[in-house]
Amino acid sequence: MVNNIYPWQSEQWSHITKQYHDDTLPHAFLFTGLKGIGKLHFAHSLVAFLLCEDKKSSQACGECKQCRLTIAQTHPDFRLTEPEDGGRIIKVDAIRSLVEFFTLSSLQGGQKITILCPAEALNNNAANALLKTLEEPAGHSLIILISHSAGKLLPTIRSRCQVIDFDTPSPKLAREWLKGSFDGERVPSEAELTALLNLSFNAPLKAKEYASLNALAENNQMLDELASLLKNDCLASTVSNRWDDDLFSLRLAWMLRWLEIILKLRMTGDEVEIQGQHGEKMMRYLAEKCSEQQLLSLYRESLTQYRLFLGSSNPNKVLTFEYLLFQWLKLMT
Ligand SMILES: [Zn+2]
Repeated sequence: MVNNIYPWQSEQWSHITKQYHDDTLPHAFLFTGLKGIGKLHFAHSLVAFLLCEDKKSSQACGECKQCRLTIAQTHPDFRLTEPEDGGRIIKVDAIRSLVEFFTLSSLQGGQKITILCPAEALNNNAANALLKTLEEPAGHSLIILISHSAGKLLPTIRSRCQVIDFDTPSPKLAREWLKGSFDGERVPSEAELTALLNLSFNAPLKAKEYASLNALAENNQMLDELASLLKNDCLASTVSNRWDDDLFSLRLAWMLRWLEIILKLRMTGDEVEIQGQHGEKMMRYLAEKCSEQQLLSLYRESLTQYRLFLGSSNPNKVLTFEYLLFQWLKLMT
């Protein structure tokens, strides 16, 4: 991989490559920003740049021995640290092994680097074990922490890193990139592009992932089911059972998103997000009928469930949805 950062990341790239040339790189970075805007991708490009032994002014050559190892994902001086087995927690064993990795000398004579993603997945023991390494880094090492919600990190972790914020691209840039990303595939219509970006809080990579999952259709079907439920045309248990699948976390995130759209209309009268939105009629009805307090309380409840889900290894999906759907039904009383 050579330098192929996204167009909305050039400022961060210039900043860090300048530090490299000035020899002022920190030993730990914390990349923060919304999920789905390419922070991990950026970090991999940075690793390739730093390990390359024939780098041009601001990018890896893509051809030297180090680059070939990086591209083949077999570079012995790089390690990706992430939750094991598709879980959500990075445990202390992973950090111990990382500490060991840093204490061994570099196999290729350059820097030793790890990307740890996402940093909020560190459990307490793991975070404490990492603190020691952040305080006294071994040799020529670099730790790149990536966080989609940096507020959850221990302040002591944050304060030991140089924080680099990644903004969500402008709606125009996000749209341009998304539109151009369907190489050889069917490009979604303008309305679908709007809906995809809407659903993903304008995070282009997330929007792209949603497109590949056919998420729009699923989101729309969920809205139809919710509308039926609110009209008493079906049962909460039927709907919850159908939603009991791998899309669980997405479904919870979408429910939050719908509430945000309704709340925005209710509180500011802003029509931009609701116009043309699937389920527009139902959302407008709820914005009209419910008090801000009711909607905010449902929003908070949904957020709590979402967080519980993220922190649990085996959530009861059906019960969670049933519970939330009953809270939606309460809006109608
Ligand atoms: Zn190279």
